[in-house]
Amino acid sequence: MSYLYDLHTHSDCSDGQLSPTELVTLAKSNKVDVLALTDHDTIAGLAEAKAAAGDDVHIINGIELSSVWNGRNIHVVGLNINVESETLTSALEEQAQSRLDRAKMIAERLEKTGIKGVWEGVQCYAKDGNIGRPHFAQYLVDTDCVTSFAQAFKRYLGTGKIGDVKQQWPELEKVISWINEAGGVAVLAHPDKYDMTRTKLYNLLQDFVDAGGRGIEIVSGKQEAGVTCKLIRAALDFSLLVSCGSDFHSPEGGWQLPGKMSDIPQGYKAVWDEWDLPLKG
Ligand code: AMP
Ligand code: MN
Ligand code: MN
Ligand code: MN
Repeated sequence: MSYLYDLHTHSDCSDGQLSPTELVTLAKSNKVDVLALTDHDTIAGLAEAKAAAGDDVHIINGIELSSVWNGRNIHVVGLNINVESETLTSALEEQAQSRLDRAKMIAERLEKTGIKGVWEGVQCYAKDGNIGRPHFAQYLVDTDCVTSFAQAFKRYLGTGKIGDVKQQWPELEKVISWINEAGGVAVLAHPDKYDMTRTKLYNLLQDFVDAGGRGIEIVSGKQEAGVTCKLIRAALDFSLLVSCGSDFHSPEGGWQLPGKMSDIPQGYKAVWDEWDLPLKG
């Protein structure tokens, strides 16, 4: 029997809704065998996830790093990272500062449009975790500025909108090097979400591979079979290891639940082929 892998999920240490413990419990009830917690720019939830895992689910130390490539915001998942890596630890301090600086800029920009109390509001939602755009979306919904998260991104937070501040992020190349230095495998996250032409995606993949990136998510959440085929082709063209994940954030809001992404086609060299996982009993 093969394992069910979900190698891209979020907790409330970044912009997910569930605590790491609640996430692990839900993943277990969905029969996930191998789960990576990949919070945005933080590893704060990993110890709790491991403590909650028991024998039923194997936890992979993960992270989803924000970066910029040719003016675009690109996400790179790092899997099986050594959380004690000094390079990674100090890089994450920088990353947290970038996130905080960006959050302040987003708040200022939104307040300039006449929306009040944004900064205090998002801090409440993020508690001690990293502030992300979904926290702003929540504030905009709760203060009736918009009716949904989708509308918040469409009007205020999405690409090219007033709250889209991305110049703080490090270059793609740099975040890949952090992952490699921490002994992990760098995986291009949700390649279909960047709205790129095939030529652009292949340019990105060439730079990704040149910088030491080794994997690609050929399945992210629910996706059409045609997209999976296109991404398998890309994986083969660049000799990349395949990966898959739900990108689960919350039981509400239309996110795929842990372990509930589209099926991953078998027979391709996968990130987990290199891991020494306990055999399924
Ligand atoms: P950030 O990491 O702060 O740049 O925020 C990016 C996050 O916003 C993504 O990881 C998603 O969780 C969320 N997001 C992006 N676009 C949308 C959208 N159109 N609707 C809802 N959530 C979104
Ligand atoms: Mn997110
Ligand atoms: Mn992402
Ligand atoms: Mn994600």
